[in-house]
Amino acid sequence: MKTSRSLFLLILLLFFYTSGFGQDKYYKGNLHTHSYWSDGDEFPEMIMEWYKNKGYDFVALSDHNIIPEGVKWKTIPKDSLYQNAFRDYLKKYGEDWVEYRKDSAGTHVRLKTLEEFRPLLEENEKFMIFKAEEITAYLDKKAVHMGAVNVQELIQPREGNTIVELIQNNIDAIREQSERTGEPILQHLNHPNFTYAITAEDIIQVDGERFFEVFNGHPYVNNYGDSIHSSTEEMWDEVNMAYIQAGKPLLYGLATDDSHHYHKFGSRYSNAGRGWVMVNSEKLDPRSLIKSMEAGDFYATTGVELEAISFDNNALSITVKPETGVDYEIRFIGAHRDRMESEILKTMKGTAAKYKLSADYLFVRAKIISSKLKENPYQEGDVEVAWVQPVIPNSSAKN
Ligand SMILES: [Zn+2]
Ligand SMILES: [Zn+2]
Repeated sequence: MKTSRSLFLLILLLFFYTSGFGQDKYYKGNLHTHSYWSDGDEFPEMIMEWYKNKGYDFVALSDHNIIPEGVKWKTIPKDSLYQNAFRDYLKKYGEDWVEYRKDSAGTHVRLKTLEEFRPLLEENEKFMIFKAEEITAYLDKKAVHMGAVNVQELIQPREGNTIVELIQNNIDAIREQSERTGEPILQHLNHPNFTYAITAEDIIQVDGERFFEVFNGHPYVNNYGDSIHSSTEEMWDEVNMAYIQAGKPLLYGLATDDSHHYHKFGSRYSNAGRGWVMVNSEKLDPRSLIKSMEAGDFYATTGVELEAISFDNNALSITVKPETGVDYEIRFIGAHRDRMESEILKTMKGTAAKYKLSADYLFVRAKIISSKLKENPYQEGDVEVAWVQPVIPNSSAKN
């Protein structure tokens, strides 16, 4: 009797183990997308459909200073490329759906609102669209663009006398709306190196910045910096060193498409599919996704997928979901308390690695670099990579 019960328990355990019980479930999403609602060159339904077909679970439609609401007409450019794309759109959705008129100036189409096209595409636990906006402001010729994901009402960009003030005023505007509506808004600082507008020093002075784009797929954003400007990845570490010392929460890194061009392809265009986030969330809904992201429970990637990430007893463990014929290098990057400079702490070849963080270090994060060339990359020669969010040593952990 006793033996059969233990046997039963053993089988039950094996069942949970092999069925992947306790494994991370990741939702794939692009948080930065443009459409005809601003300067993107395609209808939102077509764009959302593209992402859904490519296996994305969620997308934030984030046009410049506009949310997809109200009446907006778009005149389709005369170029045959866009005229043909309009015909494809009309063919796909039909005369009953598409509202348009033609006159001597061209073809005018009324853009569908989020409320209208959501039911066509959204599916429980399968696909979700975030209402979003890219708050777009300038100081002289320097661009400050900020993502407001799950925004409920349009936020008009606020001004500022300095870059820091400008960022802060818009963060405050987002926070005010979130507090008033009770809806969480994921706020992120976009492409800091676009026009080389924002430095690490600037971000350090801001209060309440939780996310920024460590990778953005638009060709003009200077992710890798140049001879006189830091890369976004260097900025990331610099900001976190300062944030930790000031007792502020960590800054997390996103990868996004910032997609604008859906008909011309190549590294001169900002095409879809270049960078995204994988969020370990309980459910596919705005509240759960944002909660996980605020807890750092996600990674950013341009192609590398991970099986699991864990941080137990100050040990950061990474397991890659390997692709056949691809090699991986797992790098642990951190900063020592006394040196105030980030460095590579450990490099491992293979699909799994672990790093034990000592209290002498401010943080550790991981970067996984594959040997696989990225298709239609941000920059020629880019390989697929992933960025795991930084973690700080927990003083109460057992050794
Ligand atoms: Zn932008
Ligand atoms: Zn953008």
